[in-house]
Amino acid sequence: MRLLLTTSQGIEDLARAEVENLLSELGVSFRVEERPLGVEGRVLAEVGEAFYTDEKGRRRELSVPTYLNERSRLLHRVIMEIASERFEGIGEDEPDLALRRIEEFVSGLPVERYVKVSESFAVRSFRKGEHRITSLDISKTVGKAIFERLSRFGTPKVNLDHPTVIFRAELVGGVFFLGIDTTGDSSLHKRPWRVYDHPAHLKASIANALIELAEPDGGSFIDPFCGSGTIPIELALRGYEGRIIGLEKFRKHLIGAKMNALSAGILERIEFILGDATRLNEYVGSVDFAVSNLPYGLKIGRKSAIPKLYMDFFGELAKVLEKRGVFITTEKRAIERAITENGFQIKHHRLIGHGGLMVHTYVIE
Ligand code: SAM
Repeated sequence: MRLLLTTSQGIEDLARAEVENLLSELGVSFRVEERPLGVEGRVLAEVGEAFYTDEKGRRRELSVPTYLNERSRLLHRVIMEIASERFEGIGEDEPDLALRRIEEFVSGLPVERYVKVSESFAVRSFRKGEHRITSLDISKTVGKAIFERLSRFGTPKVNLDHPTVIFRAELVGGVFFLGIDTTGDSSLHKRPWRVYDHPAHLKASIANALIELAEPDGGSFIDPFCGSGTIPIELALRGYEGRIIGLEKFRKHLIGAKMNALSAGILERIEFILGDATRLNEYVGSVDFAVSNLPYGLKIGRKSAIPKLYMDFFGELAKVLEKRGVFITTEKRAIERAITENGFQIKHHRLIGHGGLMVHTYVIE
C-alpha cells in the first residue's frame, strides 16, 4: 500500500523520522520518501501488510492508516494513494483543457476497488501553485469522473456533507494526486483537546516539530510565551517526565491554556505561571530547554515593540537557559540580533510553513 502523508512544509524530515519509527514498531516492511515528486509538505510511505494477534491468538490484519492516524503527532492526513501523475504544463493550460486532462486520467483509475457502489462518497480537493482552474473545479471534475466510472457497477451515491468515503484530489504545481482520505474532514493537527482557541495558536504538528528539534532529555522545559499552551500540552501528552512550565502574560490566555490542559487530561503535569517573559529570571532560576512560538506582532500587539521585546527576553533567557532553545517567528532580523547580542549561538535554522507564511525557526545554545 502507498500512503501519501501530509504535514507542514519544512518539517517533512521530522515527519518521515516519526513515520519510520512508528512503522518499525509494527515490524512491517516499509520505504519512506520525503517530498515525493518534489511536493513540499508531503511524505510517501510504501508499506507492506501488517498483522497483530488478537485475544484469541488469531492473526489479524492491522490497518496501517488507522495506526498512523491514531499515533502520529506530526502528520496532518493519511491518504491511501490511488494514483499520482505529473501533468506537464497544466499551470498554463486553458481551464477546459486542464480539467479534461484530469477527467481523462481519473476515468481510467479503478476507483471501484476503493468504494462500494452502495457507499456514499465525496471528493475534497486541494490546489497549490499557479493554475487557471480552482479547487472547486477539480472537485467537480474528479467527482464526475468517479461517478461515471462507478455507474458501470450500479447507482453511485454522492453525499457532500457526510460521505462514507472521502476521495482526496490534489493538484500541487504540475503534480496531480488522487487517494482515499482516511483521516476524514478534520486534519490531525486540529487536536480534540483544544477547547480554548487562541487567535495565534501554533499547529500541534509544528509544536511537535519544535519539541523534536529541542531534543529534551527529561530536563526542565519552559514555553515562556505559551498562549493557549499548545507546546507544553503536546510535550506532556508525549509522556515527558521532566518539569514542564508554561508562562503567559495575559490572564485570559493562561486560563485558556489551563482549560486546554484539563481537556487533554494532563493539567497536573504543567506549571502554568502568569508573568512577563522579559522578567523570566523572577519566575525560574534555571531551565534546561525553552521552546516557544514568539509573538510576531501581526495578530496581537504592535509590530514596532517586537525588537525590544525580543532583546529583553533573550537577555533574561541568557541568565537561565542551561541547554537548548527553539524559537519560531516571522521576525528574522529582530530575533537574530537578540540571539547573537545575548551570547547565544544559532545551531540550526529552517523555514516552516505556518498560516500561509514561511516562518523562521532557530535552534540556539
Ligand atoms: N504557541 C501559542 C499557542 O499555540 O497558543 C501561541 C503563542 S502567541 C504567538 C504569543 C503569546 O505570547 C501570546 O499569547 C501573548 O499574549 C504572549 N505574550 C506577549 N508578550 C508576552 C510577554 N512579555 N511575556 C509572556 N507572554 C507574552
